[in-house]
Amino acid sequence: MIIDLISDTVTKPTKEMLDVMMSAKVGDDVFNMDPTVNVLQEKVANLFGMEAALFFPSGTMANQTAIKIHTQPGDMVICDKYAHIYNYESGGVAFNSGVTCKLIDGNRGMFTASHIKELASVKPEIYLPYTKLVSIENTTNKGGGACWDYSEIEKIYQITKENNLAFHLDGARLFNALVAKNETPKQYGGLFDTISICFSKGLGAPVGSMLLGTKNHIKKALRIRKLLGGGMRQVGFLAAAANYALDHHVERLAEDHQKAKEIAEVLENCSYITKIEPVETNILIFYVDDAIGADNFIDKMASKNILLTPMGEGKIRIVTHLNYTDEMHEILLKELKNF
Ligand SMILES: *Cc1c(COP(=O)(O)O)cnc(C)c1O
Repeated sequence: MIIDLISDTVTKPTKEMLDVMMSAKVGDDVFNMDPTVNVLQEKVANLFGMEAALFFPSGTMANQTAIKIHTQPGDMVICDKYAHIYNYESGGVAFNSGVTCKLIDGNRGMFTASHIKELASVKPEIYLPYTKLVSIENTTNKGGGACWDYSEIEKIYQITKENNLAFHLDGARLFNALVAKNETPKQYGGLFDTISICFSKGLGAPVGSMLLGTKNHIKKALRIRKLLGGGMRQVGFLAAAANYALDHHVERLAEDHQKAKEIAEVLENCSYITKIEPVETNILIFYVDDAIGADNFIDKMASKNILLTPMGEGKIRIVTHLNYTDEMHEILLKELKNF
């Protein structure tokens, strides 16, 4: 048995999910004729109280499309130094949109309104990059699954409005935040110009993301998605999986969060652990003694069929998910105690 904790993207569809995929009604989505995709897009737009939504093959393509919509080459995007759009999208901000990122030195991937107040109101000069977009991530990935304080997001929203900046949410794991903080999709739909969400992470679908925005944003997104090679044909099979995930796998995220907390409690009592980041959702980041070393620790665990990821700077990451069973949990806790 392999206990794969490298990411919540490793899940396989459940039998029930596969059944709905197999019986999905499909059509050619490039011609807007896939009924399952159309239903899902409308359902998610309504869920967030936003005008429109578009199904994407990946969260990366959804985020990159949003950045392209909101900017012109030479512009600047404000984001945290841990942001996925900056660190883990292959330099796509430069490649796709020709923009630079102003990285905020936040805490666990999150910054405050005061961090950006001055930056956001810089007067445009011909020699400056024009700031056009503020992008935040909830939950934060490299920040260890941390959840933003909603009132801080409201303050940042105010700043974006006052300065005529677009506001994007990379919500790859937004549902983890909603469950952990008891918030609603509409609270987010009301603040952001565009939101990306992933079905392929904690929600347990094999593939799929969604970009939400105004009708005008989504009209532009349709063109950019095609340009990026993301126009898909009978993709209703995947939209059916995403739809099933939305109906059946949201509330259960609390179980993943609980397991992550239990792992952290065990690690607290392990002498070889030097630091554990606070656990709020399904991501746990910790550091081991220099005498052991992160890479060595990961190798040793791999030899026991337990897979973890290095996140740079000595960080080791564990992500709990739908396919991480109670039995696996017992084995992991035992191996960590005995390491
Ligand atoms: C996973 C992830 C994405 C998108 O990743 P894809 O693998 O392209 O779907 C975007 N943002 C964050 C924070 C993520 O964790």
